[in-house]
Amino acid sequence: MTVSGIRPGLPEPDQGNGEGRASGPLAQGAHSSPPEQGDIRLESLETPSFLTRRVLAGNLAAQKIPDTEPESGGPSAPVQIPGRTSQTHSSARRDMIYPKLDDKQIARLAPFGHFRSAHAGEVLFDQGKEREALFVVIKGRVQIVSPWEGVEIPINVQEPGEFTGDVSLISGRRSLVRGRALEASELLEISGERVRHIVQTDPELGEIFLRAFMLRRADLIANTPGNVLLIGSRHSADTLRLKAFLTRNSQPFTYYDVECEPCVEDFARRFNIRADDIPVLMYPGLSPLSNPSNAAAAEFLGFNTNINVPARVHDLIVVGAGPAGLAAAVYAASEGLDVLILEGNAPGGQAGSSSRIENYLGFPAGISGQDLAERALVQAQRFGAQVLIARPAAGLQCQHRLFNIGLTDGSSVQAQSVVVATGVQYRRLALENITQFEGAGVYYGATKLEAQFCEGEEIAVVGGGNSAGQAAVFLSDHAKHVHVLVRGKGLADSMSRYLIRRIEDSPRITLHAHTEIESLRGSRSLEQICWKNARTEVRETRDIRHVFAMTGASPNTAWLQGGVVLDDKQFIKTGPDLSPQDLAAAHWPLRRQPYPFETSLPRVFAVGDIRANSSKRVASSVGEGSGAVQFVHKVLAE
Ligand SMILES: Cc1cc2nc3c(=O)[nH]c(=O)nc-3n(C[C@H](O)[C@H](O)[C@H](O)COP(=O)(O)OP(=O)(O)OC[C@H]3O[C@@H](n4cnc5c(N)ncnc54)[C@H](O)[C@@H]3O)c2cc1C
Repeated sequence: MTVSGIRPGLPEPDQGNGEGRASGPLAQGAHSSPPEQGDIRLESLETPSFLTRRVLAGNLAAQKIPDTEPESGGPSAPVQIPGRTSQTHSSARRDMIYPKLDDKQIARLAPFGHFRSAHAGEVLFDQGKEREALFVVIKGRVQIVSPWEGVEIPINVQEPGEFTGDVSLISGRRSLVRGRALEASELLEISGERVRHIVQTDPELGEIFLRAFMLRRADLIANTPGNVLLIGSRHSADTLRLKAFLTRNSQPFTYYDVECEPCVEDFARRFNIRADDIPVLMYPGLSPLSNPSNAAAAEFLGFNTNINVPARVHDLIVVGAGPAGLAAAVYAASEGLDVLILEGNAPGGQAGSSSRIENYLGFPAGISGQDLAERALVQAQRFGAQVLIARPAAGLQCQHRLFNIGLTDGSSVQAQSVVVATGVQYRRLALENITQFEGAGVYYGATKLEAQFCEGEEIAVVGGGNSAGQAAVFLSDHAKHVHVLVRGKGLADSMSRYLIRRIEDSPRITLHAHTEIESLRGSRSLEQICWKNARTEVRETRDIRHVFAMTGASPNTAWLQGGVVLDDKQFIKTGPDLSPQDLAAAHWPLRRQPYPFETSLPRVFAVGDIRANSSKRVASSVGEGSGAVQFVHKVLAE
């Protein structure tokens, strides 16, 4: 990394704890204030040539955004739309992404909106702004573009019968694209709130809208650079953290690595970015943000803008948006409860970090954890559940039958009942210098992000459970060789048979039984590991730069501060697992016994991996989350 120190005075970046700093000169723009003197914003600069080259290099046709308003009110300069869309979709896929509504369907929608005209060139919604409405084109054409660094990348032209919108209409997040009338047009405008009502009440239109919205988002992620720029280093744990955070929140972004892209140096100098500012997050119209925490990044990108947190007492707060929490939210919201979900990081939980879940019912070819999480999140939001991203719960108190959940920023939210679904996280390897390499050679997830580092490398996976097996099999498609290290004599007791078979059959995976890592070595990132076979006492040192640690998990219960009864491993005891002594010690106040999934605190439930004696599987977590909701109804009626 050769970006030189142009501007002194920034504090040292945090390392790998997800709580990066959001202060310092570069951080001052985490809001939409007007630029200050010397405050450089992405949109105010000419397009750096290497960035533009990247855009043009794809099969995307880029258009320069007109500098001046067109005299006619229509788009200036001949804006050429290369066909209806710039991407090459098969016609069947295109019909799903941009379906045409028939007259009957439009007539059904009409009472929910109002008909209006738009003049040529009128911007109907814009990138970075809250997306307030969906437009059905009745007459004329609406052009959708993705503005990026002074260039407009054409996405599509909506014709009569087609409609605008993507998942941001359901989530309430900012729009990723700009939509403008390409000619004088007649439109049916329907507010976001009404769209959410339609997807809940009209199964046919709901399916057409939701499928189109999700496919459009996937398409945007795959085919446009996105309006977010991340400048980072492959040796920086915080860069990996931010990449994972953006990816797992389905936020399209363009990444530039200062180690691999020499021209970034020039760009960084123009933005006053110093080596120790990295990673830097940039968004049009806002000042660059240096090494933001996930919470600061969520605020910067407007992930939670539409949620009015302390406004009311919710029927139910779900803490944790892994499979268990999302399932609870889907069932509770679909049954009419007012649900708020608090997610400390990104939706999907552990499942979201899985490359492919193959044993979840209904997906015979498997499904990536990210896809499953995205679908579940939209499903929960579709039924009206609100989700706060990167807002961890920090404490739980009960006052006069109301629960007060404190958040890490000092604010709090209230509900009549709570479902705790905060799951588990992998334990750190017990090695002296482990923190030095976390995110810079030692990883706790194995997704496409981490797999990129492994191309052509020897790597190690530590652990004998299903997640370690899944990681080994997935990474063997990328790495030169995968060493699976287990403390025990083999895998039979801890891993599913289908994974063991794949490991045995793969010439690129070697199992090392009775083996543990003894030491990690490296300077900026991991360079070497040494392992020891406990039986033979033989030590081996290898030039391995990537270790995936998937050994045993610790429950995320610390935030409850002893407010509910835990077992000896700190998992939450519920229902029949609570002994009379447990209930007496917790001063259980009711004559009835705790319901299934109910903790020692009445009206607080625990589901999924966080629950003592749970099965630690996606399907069982989903089952518990949904199953708990019938008891939530009961306690709310008490
Ligand atoms: C790599 C990997 C592969 C796997 N593969 C499979 C598989 O193929 N099949 C299978 O059945 N299972 C698999 N599993 C296990 C499965 O993913 C888990 O059993 C499941 O995700 C548990 O769901 P959960 O919702 O209970 O908890 P989690 O998935 O752990 O989710 C908990 C959520 O709570 C959030 N959270 C934590 N603390 C707080 C707080 N204080 N405030 C707010 N939010 C908080 C976390 O950020 C997280 O999003 C795999 C796990 C991993 C790690």
